Amino acid sequence: MNTKLEPIIGLEIHVQLKTKSKMFCSCSNVADDIKPNSVVCPICMGHPGTLPTLNESAVDLGVKLALALNLKINQKSVFERKNYFYPDLPQGYQITQLDEPLSRDGFLIIKDGDKKVRVEIEKLHIENDSAKNLHKDNHSLIDFNRAGTPLAEIVTRPSIKSAEAARIFLQDLRQICRYLGVSDADMEKGNLRCDVNVSLRPVGDDNLYPKTEVKNLNSFRSVEGAIKYEIERQSISWNNNKIPREQTTRGWDENKQITVLQRSKEEANDYRYFKEPDLKALIISDEKIEKIKSDMIELPYQKLERFVSQYELDIKSAEALIVSKNVADYFEAVISEFREWILELGDKRDWKLIKKDCVRIISGWICSEIFKLVNQSGTTFENMKISAENMGQMIAMLYENQINSSAGQLILKQMFETGVDPLQFAKEQDLLQESDEGILESLVNKIILDNEEQVSQYKSGKENLMKYFVGVAMKETRGRANPVMVEKLFKDKLS
Ligand code: ZN
Ligand code: MN
Repeated sequence: MNTKLEPIIGLEIHVQLKTKSKMFCSCSNVADDIKPNSVVCPICMGHPGTLPTLNESAVDLGVKLALALNLKINQKSVFERKNYFYPDLPQGYQITQLDEPLSRDGFLIIKDGDKKVRVEIEKLHIENDSAKNLHKDNHSLIDFNRAGTPLAEIVTRPSIKSAEAARIFLQDLRQICRYLGVSDADMEKGNLRCDVNVSLRPVGDDNLYPKTEVKNLNSFRSVEGAIKYEIERQSISWNNNKIPREQTTRGWDENKQITVLQRSKEEANDYRYFKEPDLKALIISDEKIEKIKSDMIELPYQKLERFVSQYELDIKSAEALIVSKNVADYFEAVISEFREWILELGDKRDWKLIKKDCVRIISGWICSEIFKLVNQSGTTFENMKISAENMGQMIAMLYENQINSSAGQLILKQMFETGVDPLQFAKEQDLLQESDEGILESLVNKIILDNEEQVSQYKSGKENLMKYFVGVAMKETRGRANPVMVEKLFKDKLS
């Protein structure tokens, strides 16, 4: 068979919610790097006779994330027991939601290259996590610190058409989680985990064929790699007339960059789901939804649109600036500091007329210069020493010709290393441009006298000698003369 095939991709994602305590007990929900089995209690260890108490803030974070993903919140949702036996699950069941989840029917618009793609989301529900298995030197260890921590599980519809789109969706999801503060969503640390479902079908065929599930992918690269590998592998089967007849589960071999068969056929009723008898149905009032909606901050995709329209930024710069909420906030703080400084320096021009120019300069200094320094130094943007006020002032000094751009670079480096005030440093290092009209005028007069030959050539039409005159002035002042003023003085005197 040689029909054209299309990939059908769906994702199941687990996001660890950043609550203070675990989902059903008061143990703290801490990071992984503390002593194993130090944050446990009879509830999260599944001792008989204990009862779960639902953590309201896990619900709130779930609702927040669901709203950001355009999901509809179910006013009533129900917890169920998913029964299975495994050493990392002391209760013998996970408390999750199946038929009546927290939310349903959402979507996220992502940008795959120049295309806008809508990823349909089937549902987001909340559940608790299992403990963590560690296998080393022929024995297995279990750390129960993670047991009972809250998760949001997000299930997309099989609506994703490429490995790249799947990766972009996940990266956008990570960004949203971080903006909202619902999760650190770090794949390497396991607080964002992803299973992918891949199947193929002939173009034009509406059927869904049995899918392959690749479990526990822990990097964006492995998600993209596993999907690409599956598309390739399944294409070969289809082209050899081997149409998949049962669902299979495969694992990702990071070293070999291939998927490996783990098991076939696995059905939901293997888990003997039933309603959790120890928890009431979860009721979420309209007031609560409205409250969470009204507290919602601007999301990355909304910020992107606003930056493009409000600041007339090109899409690439806007994307770079919304990379995190901190960077976006910094950019806007620098703009407002910059505006105050240029006013202070006597620039009374209408902001509307100079805005586009100024914003482009500011975004350039942040996206190329600051990001470069941050990357080279190994620090984080959040920890770097240049305050928005100092940055706004430095760029204003540059814009108003108080300093030239090479002085700007020197000042930037120093601000990055020590957090110094730009004006103070410029004075100390004698970096301020000479803008005193009287001083510049006598300089220009002297140069005209010293360069008789060039002056007469200029007067007879060789106008590109202006560059030469300005160059001499810059040389004589070691680059400190205000070049705009110098050029104007030469023009006035030589015309
Ligand atoms: Zn506990
Ligand atoms: Mn799950």
